[in-house]
Amino acid sequence: MSDSVAEVVIIGAGPVGLFQIFELGLLGIHAHIIDSLPQVGGQCTELYPEKPIYDIPALPICGAQELIDRLMEQAKPFNADFHLGEEVTELQPLPDGKFRVVTSVGRALVAGAVVIAGGVGSFQPRRLAVPGVEAIEGKHVHYRVKASVDFHGKEVVICGGGDSALDWTVALHDKVRSLTLVHRRAEFRAAPATVARMRELVAAGKMQLLEGNVVAHHLDDEKLVRVEVQAPDGRRVHLPAEQVLAFFGLHPKLGPIAEWGLELEKKALKVDTEKFQTSVPGIFAIGDINTYPGKKKLILSGFHEAALAAFAIQAHLNPGKRQFLQYTTTSPIMQKRLGVGA
Ligand SMILES: Cc1cc2nc3c(=O)[nH]c(=O)nc-3n(C[C@H](O)[C@H](O)[C@H](O)COP(=O)(O)OP(=O)(O)OC[C@H]3O[C@@H](n4cnc5c(N)ncnc54)[C@H](O)[C@@H]3O)c2cc1C
Repeated sequence: MSDSVAEVVIIGAGPVGLFQIFELGLLGIHAHIIDSLPQVGGQCTELYPEKPIYDIPALPICGAQELIDRLMEQAKPFNADFHLGEEVTELQPLPDGKFRVVTSVGRALVAGAVVIAGGVGSFQPRRLAVPGVEAIEGKHVHYRVKASVDFHGKEVVICGGGDSALDWTVALHDKVRSLTLVHRRAEFRAAPATVARMRELVAAGKMQLLEGNVVAHHLDDEKLVRVEVQAPDGRRVHLPAEQVLAFFGLHPKLGPIAEWGLELEKKALKVDTEKFQTSVPGIFAIGDINTYPGKKKLILSGFHEAALAAFAIQAHLNPGKRQFLQYTTTSPIMQKRLGVGA
């Protein structure tokens, strides 16, 4: 892939990164936004989509997913380019003052400024605790379903007790050659209706349910043929398995951000409170990823930081140019950018 040009790259599409698109857009600055997750919303969508939030100004109660939907709607006029399911792995300053941003799929963007809105880091799947599993991850062991047809007609083992494990169990049971759901305990966290459906399938002999943990795997000619499950009573059960889907949830990892040479304090990026700029001019950090005296990891703090960072980015991209504070209520140019007004 050849390098693409961007005015600004935002790393992280959580609530704060999404609001940054809007604040930059009001100032006439276009953004590309990248997130390692396949969907926008950061912690709100990944960790608590159905919980109500009570401390967003002027919204006495707002569901976490609803907040993300509203932020997407608000950012829409500014036509940001979204690159989802891509982790930013490299961020390099270039001799001309710009930055080269490279993602896990090899995409390279050259930007005039970068905003890191990486929250608590990029979410990584919790991995199967089986020695040597790395060698078969992506081939025989998967932490998410990219294309469900890959599992059709196969001997499949699904691990986990949450919604993803149960949803895929129900969705795949009649398309695979054999299916076993392995969960470490008898209780499930998934939606009760899906758990009930899975139990019906077990009772009808359409799949197996096994309590325990996958502890070993066996290959034949580099192909997975079996896994071993350790039951709570210590018994080892051998299961035929060509494909394993493990859904143990996600955990955040600061990951590559820690390796970009930016000044850190307790795993957060140090910024000033005028521009929310990191130790490298032109690289800004907003939301949960940053730290400064008095920092509070709240969504509303991140929104304020995005507004001030947008002005600082405008000044960074146009040095020496006078800045004006304009109101959305009265500014024809802002209203034109928003696609509203006369
Ligand atoms: C259970 C719970 C309840 C909460 N309730 C409230 C509340 O009531 N009010 C409130 O104000 N706050 C609340 N919070 C905190 C709030 O969710 C966070 O402050 C907010 O999500 C921070 O937003 P963010 O955009 O900075 O980061 P995040 O939401 O963490 O999003 C960061 C994004 O960056 C991505 N990312 C990181 N590194 C990379 C990389 N290298 N490449 C690509 N993508 C990357 C991540 O995948 C993630 O999607 C709550 C948090 C939790 C866990």
